[in-house]
Amino acid sequence: MGAKDKISRAILAKENPTLLPRWGARALIEPEAEKEKSSSNPGLASHTLRKKLIGRLKKRGIVDEIVIDAIGSVARHQFVDSALASMAYEDVALPIGFGQTISQPFVVAKTISIVRELLSKTRSREELVQQNILEVGCGSGYQASILLECFGSVTSVERIYPLYKKALQNCDQYIGQGKLQINFFDGKCGFTDGAPYDAIFFSASLEKFPNQLINQVKDGGVVLSPTGKGLQYLLAGTKESSSCSSFSISRYDVVSYVPILEGLERS
Ligand code: SAH
Repeated sequence: MGAKDKISRAILAKENPTLLPRWGARALIEPEAEKEKSSSNPGLASHTLRKKLIGRLKKRGIVDEIVIDAIGSVARHQFVDSALASMAYEDVALPIGFGQTISQPFVVAKTISIVRELLSKTRSREELVQQNILEVGCGSGYQASILLECFGSVTSVERIYPLYKKALQNCDQYIGQGKLQINFFDGKCGFTDGAPYDAIFFSASLEKFPNQLINQVKDGGVVLSPTGKGLQYLLAGTKESSSCSSFSISRYDVVSYVPILEGLERS
């Protein structure tokens, strides 16, 4: 049963009002993450490994059922090089080439939980699973696939051509369904083609919060961006209403993301 099939059950479930815990840069990599036994065929073992991963995310405070189901339904080992596949269900970022990493499951789960909670102030639970999302920094396509499972419609942009091509391959089944688009594009200033969005996720860090994106976001919409020079904080800005010229910013904890870079890299 996939994430969307369980929506009505999750919608009916009583929401856990537990405050989202905070985390620091060092804590992003779970220090005592139990090493999974390597499997010669991670595909066969991945269902069990995903269940263990979900168990660890729950222990770290992830309570949103839609997010948990999405992590459980996306095969992360298919987004990394086969040499790293046996590590795909450890809760760590892994290299995907070009100095970039596939997002850490905990960070993916945490950021989506934050955005869903902020959007829930102005959207019904039914609307929450039908949101128009932009991700800047597609990388392997893993987070884009999780976003799709959670929200229903995703545009993701990537500035490194070989990563863009690989993401297209990794996500071909989702793209075929017509709800995920991946573009070779420098998304530092957003991506107007699919705007307005309900939420924009930056998967790499900016030096300043991108206030100029106010016109690419719907009322009540959210921009989530790891922000800062050196020390980075996870910031989420909500567009309170159409008359607002700036976001209302909530600050979460310290994070460690690769930086957003400018321009396109073709090889
Ligand atoms: N979410 C991805 C990983 C993101 S790593 C995953 O799950 O695999 C950050 C990504 O942001 C890298 O692939 C990097 O090339 C991309 N990136 C950095 N600056 C960018 C920009 N200006 N426009 C689009 N993508 C960018």
